[in-house]
Amino acid sequence: LLHNTLVELRGNIRVHCRIRPFLPFDAGDNVKSLQDGPEVLSQTVIHAIDEETVCVKYRRPGHPPMNKKFEFERVYRPEDQQESVFNEVCPLLTSLLDGYNVCIMAYGQTGSGKTHTMLGPHFEDEVTLDTEPQPEEGIIPRAMRELFRLLSEKPSGSHLVSVSVVEVYNNEIFDLLAKDSCGTASGIKRDVVTTAAGNSDVPLLKYDLLQASAPQLDSLTNIYFLNSHGPATISLSSSYRKWVYLKVSIPKTSPLVLVISVRLPKMQISGISLKSKEWGWRKNVKCSISSSDSRQALRPHSPSPTRRLSERTQTVQAVKSKLQLVDLAGSECVGMSGVTGAALRETSFINRSLSALSDVLGALAEQRPHIPYRNSKLTHLLQDSIGGDAKLLVMLCVSPIQKYLAESLQSLGFGTRAR
Ligand code: ADP
Ligand code: MG
Repeated sequence: LLHNTLVELRGNIRVHCRIRPFLPFDAGDNVKSLQDGPEVLSQTVIHAIDEETVCVKYRRPGHPPMNKKFEFERVYRPEDQQESVFNEVCPLLTSLLDGYNVCIMAYGQTGSGKTHTMLGPHFEDEVTLDTEPQPEEGIIPRAMRELFRLLSEKPSGSHLVSVSVVEVYNNEIFDLLAKDSCGTASGIKRDVVTTAAGNSDVPLLKYDLLQASAPQLDSLTNIYFLNSHGPATISLSSSYRKWVYLKVSIPKTSPLVLVISVRLPKMQISGISLKSKEWGWRKNVKCSISSSDSRQALRPHSPSPTRRLSERTQTVQAVKSKLQLVDLAGSECVGMSGVTGAALRETSFINRSLSALSDVLGALAEQRPHIPYRNSKLTHLLQDSIGGDAKLLVMLCVSPIQKYLAESLQSLGFGTRAR
């Protein structure tokens, strides 16, 4: 609870930085870049000096030594495990069920550990949510597991949890759960639409993850993500035991966004909220029972709106919120030169969407009146999760080695600008 309170006080955007370990393949990269002196092969230039400070220390003969410090809400050391990273992220799941929109995004150059952090390594075995997490599982499977654990503690009611999967490629939004007319799952292009309330929305195919009312979570659709570099593919199969598996291959270069939508009825009886403080009223709890929106959220098994209203003459609120989990494109494309043709086109789109994201975060940090969400499809898609009351966690991923110093400094600068 204390932790949650601290999180509240810190505002809506937090930036964490994860320094990945020095890996065997880094030695080769260090050898290539050792023109400057007999440094050791395992030289690293980026260190965590405490839980909130990153230090970039670099000496180069003939140049003034670099010694720069960057502060973030949390800094993870190379030896920090997936579990400790998730423990810091975990309170956001409670916020989600309180009605906040939440976004967790990994930012960093290719090879800095974004996919490792969001998803984990490639698992040979299927990751199912009904077992204990494997040590290497990343934020996405852990967040799904925590979400369903929290739901199982809620009074039984008509919970609705669905997932959409989106790839943003060349400034176009592709709905990866939708199949094209030939039935191949290559994704269908979607446009951002403006809703009656003036918000932007993308009509995406949603896949229901709960087939009956919670907390009978044994009816939970099982979901697993495949960390394999290559074109994004989705396959749904419903014949595997009683589970349904959702496989997602993470695209290597374009951003992947998982959208988890949650709708919960809020039930209050005799004036006492059934919810503990974590379920308390929040100002962006979106739908009230009088709106048509919340009527959709109330499923057949839940008490009828009229009955609940008579039990408590105040408006009963339902919770509707969204969790967006984002594995961004490699940030080395920002300012990259020397590519041509289709790669140049792709790079310039990635470049544009990442700088649009940086502009949005900068405008939010400076509390400017106009936030330029509409400058890219990526920011447009993420709009309701990265402004206003929404809680955004940017996970900066950096490699510790000297070869990527410029890219790491760019990422650290991006993170600093967002705060
Ligand atoms: P990105 O998605 O940013 O391109 P990856 O997540 O694919 O980077 O990471 C690149 C490589 O580094 C992978 O082989 C990954 O397993 C490894 N790696 C990244 N972060 C860690 C970590 N914290 N611990 C161990 N290995 C890591
Ligand atoms: Mg990746």
